[in-house]
Amino acid sequence: MRQDTAFLFDLDGTLVDSVYQHVAAWKEALDAEGIDLSVWRIHRKIGMSGGLFANQLLRETGFDIDPEASERLRLRHAAAYSRLSATVTPLPGARELLAALTEGGIPWAIATSGRMETAASNLAALGVEPAQVPVVTRDLVKYAKPDPDLFLAAAARLNVPIENTVVVGDSIWDMLAAQRCRALGIGVLCGGYGVAELREAGAYRVFEDPEELLEHLDEVGGRR
Ligand SMILES: [Mg+2]
Repeated sequence: MRQDTAFLFDLDGTLVDSVYQHVAAWKEALDAEGIDLSVWRIHRKIGMSGGLFANQLLRETGFDIDPEASERLRLRHAAAYSRLSATVTPLPGARELLAALTEGGIPWAIATSGRMETAASNLAALGVEPAQVPVVTRDLVKYAKPDPDLFLAAAARLNVPIENTVVVGDSIWDMLAAQRCRALGIGVLCGGYGVAELREAGAYRVFEDPEELLEHLDEVGGRR
């Protein structure tokens, strides 16, 4: 097993500017099911597993979401997102950061709560080829964030102990999942969560976006 530091990246809001497209897609899907939920409440849940998302909706709205409705929501969200995904672009410095890691021989992988059906277009926008880079999606694990399974699977794909990994994410769900598997959490602000929230959820450092993280890479274990 390798002993060097590896980087495990969340995708939406961390490497690609897609949080608001996801929020809009969920809003459309919920509206179609007759579930009235304010946009800000949806935003707060982006990045967590779809199953937990449905459970939290149930608690907050009192709507009864059965497994069929939950599946319809998922499909409607995916359809709406695919329409909106043409506007998704890499966040500042994302491509450069990944290129710098690759050039420096620093292992990295992507671990997203999204399914491949929505992640594929984001990866394309980012110029990441899933055949060449370890990408762990919701389809591949039993539980998504804030459970640590996605990050554990990504570390295993890189053959790096989870304690040697840095988890980079924009949401509190990423930081909580990182804590649960004893990875180091690094927060980025480009998904809309604030510094205090990310720190409270366990972030060791917080940067504005991948560009700022790249400038400080050597401070968080990214020695080349
Ligand atoms: Mg995210």
